Amino acid sequence: MDSPTHVALISSPGMGHLFPSLELATRLSTRHHLTLTVFLVTSHSSSAENNVVAAAEATGLFTVVELPPADMSDVTDSTVVGRLAITMRRHVPALRSAISALTSRPSALIADIFSTEAFAVADEFHMAKYVFVASNAWFLALTIYAQVLDKQIVGQYVDQKEPLQIPGCEPVRPCDVVDPMLDRTESQYYEYVKMGRAIASSHGVLVNSWDELQGRTLASFKDRSLLGRVMNAPVYSIGPIVRHFGSGKDGSSELFNWLRKQPGKSVIYVSFGSGGTLSFEQMTEMAHGLELSRQRFVWVVRPPTVRSDAMFFTTGDGSEDQSEARYLPEGFLERTSEVGFLVSMWAEQTAVLGSPAVGGFFTHGGWNSSLEGITKGVPMIVWPLYAEQRMNATMLADEMGVAVRPKELPGNAVIGREEIAAMVRKIMAEEDEEGRAIRAKAMELQRSAEKACAQGGSSYENFARVVKLFGRTG
Ligand code: UDP
Repeated sequence: MDSPTHVALISSPGMGHLFPSLELATRLSTRHHLTLTVFLVTSHSSSAENNVVAAAEATGLFTVVELPPADMSDVTDSTVVGRLAITMRRHVPALRSAISALTSRPSALIADIFSTEAFAVADEFHMAKYVFVASNAWFLALTIYAQVLDKQIVGQYVDQKEPLQIPGCEPVRPCDVVDPMLDRTESQYYEYVKMGRAIASSHGVLVNSWDELQGRTLASFKDRSLLGRVMNAPVYSIGPIVRHFGSGKDGSSELFNWLRKQPGKSVIYVSFGSGGTLSFEQMTEMAHGLELSRQRFVWVVRPPTVRSDAMFFTTGDGSEDQSEARYLPEGFLERTSEVGFLVSMWAEQTAVLGSPAVGGFFTHGGWNSSLEGITKGVPMIVWPLYAEQRMNATMLADEMGVAVRPKELPGNAVIGREEIAAMVRKIMAEEDEEGRAIRAKAMELQRSAEKACAQGGSSYENFARVVKLFGRTG
């Protein structure tokens, strides 16, 4: 009997990267019976991250190798994409040593979008090169096409009067561009354009979306007269891949006891991903807005900061800061003690969203969170903060109709309490046509996601197709 195909996977730090990579490894192991070695670069500063890595190792489904930390003491770049790119570049030598030490050589390397410099190692060891995009196809389209926009467009993207055209895809509004495109003078912009080129010249790209969700965009990659002009790699939509790994807290905690006592679909869950934070002013409006909405809520709170992605590299597990009273409006905790539950820093999100009491999700629109909302069939309020979240918000609200979003972009303006309360009521309670349509659409997308992953579904078939190719070395 042939021995199973051995595949290596490398993930950059950050929960939004770690979770989908580990989930992909789990699927490749359990459904496709591959042998996997998962190389992780962790931030070494997050207890939630440590718990997730330990939980992944404990499954015994694949081998986890944490690469030794690289020296970053001289790095002054504080942008998320810039730091991630440098971090992953500096881990290439450690990856090389780790792969050469393996007794069985993997036939393919699957890198996340920040790890494509590891392809140099894949070439040395004659491994095929695949990319796992833990985001959606529209984001992938922009990433690939950034190399063309870079030549076409003069000046800053955000100053353009017209939307950015991507062949065969929805245009991107200048105000929605991804963070690394906000300022073309920053080094993270060059890293981003370079990333797009590396992805386009890999052997294949796995994207966390599905044909029925983003059919037009996915088709444009195949069309030589559209994005196929710059995209040389075949794209396999294999999603939604939504995590099952916990970060150590179980379902018996105080939060879940509270949720069990609430009526069905009565609670809105408020959380801004692994890295998101609000300003002091915005937190005040959020607190008053939730109170005004008169809906039950669970809110994952973090101390206010000026930067909206302040927690990206340092997500905690709830043990760091328990004193919300310091920064929430006076009396808020007392007034809402019957209807609201505050969680400090980190909640077990997929379990919360799976609770029958939860009927809405106030999210920053990170792609993992968006998919977690979609697969649970909950309507959303999307409040984009960083990365590609502005694009996600536009897509979820304007195109897919499963969410509402604030009129102004958070970050440009403080969103007031009345608007917050109105959005919460819209998705949770209002019996107007719009609220009903959003809730119905959320259920429809949930069914579409389930169908895509079920046997014979589009993602199921695409997955099987690409897995067969992993055995062929590069
Ligand atoms: N997450 C969680 N609890 C929290 C915050 C985030 O479990 O309190 C998880 C969430 O379920 C998701 C991931 O962290 O799987 C965040 O990824 P996403 O792409 O949504 O956003 P990012 O953190 O990368 O901005």
